[in-house]
Amino acid sequence: MMALGPDFPELREAVRRLCAGYPGTYWRALEKTDSYPTEFITALTKAGFLSALIPEQYGGSGLPLRAAAVILEEINASGCVASQGHAQMYIMGTLLRHGSEEQKQRYLPKIASGELRLQAFGVTEPTTGSDTTSLKTRATRVGDYYEVTGQKVWTSRALHSDLMLLIARTTPLAEVKKKTEGLSVFLVDIKANLGHGLEIRPIEAMINHGATEVFFDKLRVPAENLIGEEGKGFKYILDGMNAERILVGTEAVGDGRWCLDRAVRYAKERSVFGRTIGQNQGVQFPLARCHVDLKMADMMCRRAAALFDAGVDCGEDANIAKLVASEAAFKAADVAMQTLGGFSYATEYEVERKWRETRIYQIAPISTNMILSYIGQHVLGLERSF
Ligand SMILES: Cc1cc2nc3c(=O)[nH]c(=O)nc-3n(C[C@H](O)[C@H](O)[C@H](O)COP(=O)(O)OP(=O)(O)OC[C@H]3O[C@@H](n4cnc5c(N)ncnc54)[C@H](O)[C@@H]3O)c2cc1C
Repeated sequence: MMALGPDFPELREAVRRLCAGYPGTYWRALEKTDSYPTEFITALTKAGFLSALIPEQYGGSGLPLRAAAVILEEINASGCVASQGHAQMYIMGTLLRHGSEEQKQRYLPKIASGELRLQAFGVTEPTTGSDTTSLKTRATRVGDYYEVTGQKVWTSRALHSDLMLLIARTTPLAEVKKKTEGLSVFLVDIKANLGHGLEIRPIEAMINHGATEVFFDKLRVPAENLIGEEGKGFKYILDGMNAERILVGTEAVGDGRWCLDRAVRYAKERSVFGRTIGQNQGVQFPLARCHVDLKMADMMCRRAAALFDAGVDCGEDANIAKLVASEAAFKAADVAMQTLGGFSYATEYEVERKWRETRIYQIAPISTNMILSYIGQHVLGLERSF
């Protein structure tokens, strides 16, 4: 049954306690040098939060997706940055559902203990973007390995991860009946291959996200690192996308909560023209509207997670949850900017950082138009537009 109050209260409290040790000064210092929050991610891993979805027999806690979503939500609602560790949770599903027993035994316990980080997901390519099935990175079987050549872009955290989940074409487009066929998914050992067919270059970006470009030049990936069957990779990735949307949507709700809370506190404290600014309806109503939007987004995220955890088709709900949460989060950040006025530009208030960080949800991991086209086509039955 879907919980209505703040579900998983002990889990939320435990996450908040951990996050209290990583205040704004910590995140601002990292931004200055574009550095990875290694201590924070290590602490989350040690506390078992990042292995929430790994079954107990492989060293995790085997919790439902909603629990993982709550962890990410509370991280962001505490002012920290969940995106630096979230990929492990949503990439995991591909390995959990489609990996062989041998692969699970080999990787999952080490991921759960923190010995291995699985934080990089190589999908987007510079020339094909949202048109994933047209991607050009090729993996060709040669004896007991695949030779991979091509390029990815915007691969987050590739320089801070031991493993990358990579999608590449194993059968040329011209030889498949459907564009979705002939793509395969691999686990690539980043650390062992750097400089040997694998090159990673950081991208300077608007937020500290460890963004990179990844180049593959005849990289050798052992055939045993293929996940599931060759040619079925797109289906495996799609499977995980509903989980990804629910997790990212809930994470966005957490950011929105932080922004709204910051703005409301400021509106109660800041006095101009002899009264607190929050007394003015021009300031109060946008804040109230953000609360309404975030509540609605929260409900959609819960509903989508409840369907996912019940094993029911949740494509429509996961997409709607991500869309409304992405907009509610950025709206809250934008209203927080307006509420703090000039002080919102001072980095010590953290609002400008959250404003930059919440903008991404409407673009990545999937842009709003792609969600709308999914709803148009698959929910409303309208003609496919591309
Ligand atoms: C900070 C950051 C981190 C990221 N991390 C990762 C990562 O870890 N791994 C990874 O694989 N990718 C990652 N991405 C990439 C991200 O998933 C893509 O940027 C996103 O999917 C959009 O693809 P694109 O940038 O190529 O845009 P494009 O596909 O070029 O689209 C540009 C715009 O046009 C719109 N558009 C395109 N085609 C249509 C159409 N037919 N109808 C209507 N509108 C259309 C899109 O909605 C979008 O708004 C990241 C991106 C950023 C910025």
